[in-house]
Amino acid sequence: MKKADVFEFYRRLAEANPHPETELESGNPYQLLVAVVLSAQATDAGVNKATRALFAAVTTPEQMVALGLDALKQHIRTIGLFNTKAKNVIALSQALIADHGSQVPDDRAGLERLPGVGRKTANVVLNVAFGAETFAVDTHIFRVGNRTGLARGKTPLAVELKLDKATPQPFRPHAHHWLILHGRYVCKARRPECWRCIVADLCAYKPKTPPPKAAPTPP
Ligand code: SF4
Repeated sequence: MKKADVFEFYRRLAEANPHPETELESGNPYQLLVAVVLSAQATDAGVNKATRALFAAVTTPEQMVALGLDALKQHIRTIGLFNTKAKNVIALSQALIADHGSQVPDDRAGLERLPGVGRKTANVVLNVAFGAETFAVDTHIFRVGNRTGLARGKTPLAVELKLDKATPQPFRPHAHHWLILHGRYVCKARRPECWRCIVADLCAYKPKTPPPKAAPTPP
């Protein structure tokens, strides 16, 4: 995509949603970190449903360790892979207490050393909790980047590096939210809704999806 088109692409997404936010609910960086770890291969809505009661009771790593593995599993048992995720959440809480003064580190290396925390999780936490200009490439961003031509790549890391290179200011801080939301609600996996897409003329995807046929009106 040409530089001017990239700018216009983001300008329109920004105009349509000036203050995009993560849909994961959390009250502090620690809860955000836990929510992102729980969200792997799960929907934000599903995670929120499980974490509302958990986060009402647990706001710190110490409280999570005190809660214990079995009680945590009960809270999150509706989320996929909950056994492994519960173990990781307890282990990362212990690591935060032991190595980081119970604070969430604000650097990639520190985050990625925590159990259950990979590059994508670190990118979300760095962006949402600390305002870093990171691009957390999930399934939605991967798809939007490749379809549109904004950032093509065979792996999430390749797409992330291209987005980092291509995304101009003033859009960098919120770019990943705009792309996720665009992928989740418009540029959907099975059937992108090109007919109502505000960046359709800038997007390389072909052929564009036509609007669904209107239901016949009853006689
Ligand atoms: S035009 Fe279609 S494929 Fe392109 S970004 Fe919009 S919804 Fe996605």
